[in-house]
Amino acid sequence: MKKYDLIVVGGGLTGVAASVCAAREGMSVLLCEQSGALGGAMANCLVMPFMPYFEKNPETGERKKLSDGFFTELRARYEKLAPSLDAKVFKNPELYFNQEIFKLVFDEMVSESGAEVLFHAKLCGAETDGRRVTAARFATTAGIIELEADYFIDASGDGNLMALSGCEFNLGRETDHLCQPMTLCFRMSGVDVEEFWRVKPQINEKYKALKAAGKIKNPREDVLCFNWLDGYIHFNTTRIIKLDPTNPFDVSKAEIEARKQIAEVVAFLRNNFECCKNASISSIAADIGVRESRKLIGEHVLSADDLIACKKFDDAIAYGNYDIDIHNPEGAGTSHHFFKYGEVYTIPYRALIPKEYDNMLVAGRCISTTHEAQASIRIMPICCCTGEAAGRAMALAKRGNTGTREIPIAELQKQLGLYPPNPL
Ligand SMILES: Cc1cc2nc3c(=O)[nH]c(=O)nc-3n(C[C@H](O)[C@H](O)[C@H](O)COP(=O)(O)OP(=O)(O)OC[C@H]3O[C@@H](n4cnc5c(N)ncnc54)[C@H](O)[C@@H]3O)c2cc1C
Repeated sequence: MKKYDLIVVGGGLTGVAASVCAAREGMSVLLCEQSGALGGAMANCLVMPFMPYFEKNPETGERKKLSDGFFTELRARYEKLAPSLDAKVFKNPELYFNQEIFKLVFDEMVSESGAEVLFHAKLCGAETDGRRVTAARFATTAGIIELEADYFIDASGDGNLMALSGCEFNLGRETDHLCQPMTLCFRMSGVDVEEFWRVKPQINEKYKALKAAGKIKNPREDVLCFNWLDGYIHFNTTRIIKLDPTNPFDVSKAEIEARKQIAEVVAFLRNNFECCKNASISSIAADIGVRESRKLIGEHVLSADDLIACKKFDDAIAYGNYDIDIHNPEGAGTSHHFFKYGEVYTIPYRALIPKEYDNMLVAGRCISTTHEAQASIRIMPICCCTGEAAGRAMALAKRGNTGTREIPIAELQKQLGLYPPNPL
C-alpha cells in the first residue's frame, strides 16, 4: 500500500483547506472522508450561512476580513462557478450559499491540488510508535484498510483521530461533559416569505405560549430560522440535549428525536400561520449537526479569558471575533458574549498541537479550547483558517524534515498573511 506524506481525516472546510494547502506545497496527501462529498457540516448537515468573518466599522461600514487566505479563495471559486449552475441569487452572497455548488468547488480544488480523496472511508483505528502516529485504519466497503503516512491531521470535527491515538481531550463542558445541543437542520419550501418575517414575532409568541402549556416538547426557547431564498426558510430550531455526540447509540436516538421535533414545528407553523399553509418540508439534513464534542487538550488550551482579553499570541495562526455563542446544553436559552468593533482575538498554533505526538495536528472545531472558547471559534470561516494553517505547517515540517513543533512559525505566519504578528 502506498505511503503518503500526509493523511487528513475529515473532509469539511477544515480538511479541504488543510489538504489543498499541503498538496500545493508538494506533499502527497490523502484526504479521507466518511461520506460521499466534501464540505462537512455544510454538506452533510445543511449548516448555513457563514457566520460573519469580518470586522465592520459601525460608522463608515468599512469591512476588514478576519478569515482570509484560502477561505477567500473558496468563496471566489464559488462565485465564479455558481452563475453557470444556479439561477438563484442570494440576497447576502457573502454569507449565504448553495451547498451543492460548494461540493463541486471542493472537488475541483482538491483535484487541481493533486491531493487524493478517499470517500466512504470511516476512520476506526490508529497505530502509533512512541511520539509518532504511523498509520490510520478506515472501515470501507472493501473491509478495513490501513494506510501509512509521515504526518496526520485530524479534521474530523469530533476529534476521532486524536481520540483513537490516545491524545488527552475534553468532552463538552469541563464540569459535567455536557455538550452544546445537537441540531438537525431542515428547510421548508412554499412559504410566503415576506409575510413569514412580518409575523415572526407572533410566531415566537405563539410558540412560547404553546411551550408553556406543555404542547410543544422542543426544549428550544423560540423558532430559529434564516431566510435561505425566496420561498424557502431554513430552520436551525431542533434542539437535542444531554446526549453524547461521540456515542453512536446517542446520536441515533438524537436523529429520531430531532425528526419528531421537525414534524412538531412544521405542523405548528402550517396549522397556525397563513404564510405557511402551502409550505412543505423540502429537505432534512442527512446527519444531525454537532456543535461541540471532543476538544483536544493540547499545548495551549484557548480560554474565554484569552478571547475576551483579545490576546495576541506570538504564534497566532488565525483571527476571530464571532460571539461566544452558547446554546444551553441543558434546555432552553442561548447565551452570548459579543465582541465590539476593534476587539479581535487570535488562535495560537499551539492550540493545534497534541502534547503526545510530534507528527500530528488537530484543526477545526476540535482544537484545544475550553467549552466557552469553542463556542466562538467553531464557525466555518474560522475552522477553515485553522485547516489552512495546519496544512501549511505540515508542508513546512516536511520541507525541514522536522516535527510539528520545530516549524519556522514566522514563515507560516507570512504564508497566512499574518506577519508581522498581531497587526490588528
Ligand atoms: C446546527 C449547527 C449550526 C451551525 N451554524 C453555523 C452557522 O450558521 N455558521 C457557521 O459558520 N458555522 C455554524 N456551525 C458550526 C460549523 O458548522 C462547524 O463548527 C464547522 O463546520 C466545523 O468544521 P470542521 O471542518 O471542523 O468539521 P465538519 O464540518 O464537521 O467536518 C468534519 C468532517 O469529518 C468527517 N468525519 C468525521 N468523523 C470521521 C471519521 N471517523 N472518518 C472519516 N471522516 C470523518 C465528517 O463526515 C465531516 O465531513 C453550526 C454547527 C451546527 C451543528
